[in-house]
Amino acid sequence: MQAILLGPPGAGKGTQAKMLTERYGVPQVSTGDILRAAVAAGTPLGKEAKTYMDRGALVPDEVVIGIVRDRLGEPDCRKGYLLDGFPRTVAQAEALNRMLKKLGAPLPRVVSLEVGEEELVKRLSGRRTCPACGEPFHVESHPPRVEGICDKCGGHLIQREDDREETIRRRLQVYRKETEPLIGYYQNQGLLKTVNGLGEAGEVFARVSRALEG
Ligand code: AMP
Repeated sequence: MQAILLGPPGAGKGTQAKMLTERYGVPQVSTGDILRAAVAAGTPLGKEAKTYMDRGALVPDEVVIGIVRDRLGEPDCRKGYLLDGFPRTVAQAEALNRMLKKLGAPLPRVVSLEVGEEELVKRLSGRRTCPACGEPFHVESHPPRVEGICDKCGGHLIQREDDREETIRRRLQVYRKETEPLIGYYQNQGLLKTVNGLGEAGEVFARVSRALEG
């Protein structure tokens, strides 16, 4: 299974990627998660990335391309991968094509998750995440059993810095300008499947699985 999950912030890429890794046994490669881990660890990469992430801008292409090249070269990606949050620009998509060619890997399937803008803002502003295990929650649609505490590992839930309304609007703007053109890019290559991202995570998962297997 080689797949890319495409879609705006809040479309459910991370949630679906986690469910897909369990079903297909291939690693989730999330550039957002890798960058947040670098920020938390205070590495030079993290320090640089934070200046972009906090204002909802994209981290420069050459930085994220380098991260993905290293990650896809690791042994666990030989049997496949689920890319979540990458590529986000046409330059990244082209670099990915070159990388896969070099690795002799097959072309990925691309699933585009479609969710309208007001729903995205609602989802992102109510989103809470466990920094310890990555489990996602939502204050209304998927609250934890105990407020502020992760059901899975007991970690203290946080709101991401960039999940505040002003930054959310900026991220959606960046998505429309930089990332949405990838839908046409992959459509032209015959790799794209479009999936309705509305509804329960389980329902969306059934649609995504069908799109990937069909
Ligand atoms: P995400 O968790 O995918 O929403 O990513 C959070 C933030 O990390 C984004 O708003 C960007 O600042 C940065 N980021 C993640 N993936 C990429 C990427 N492929 N290209 C550029 N910046 C990225």
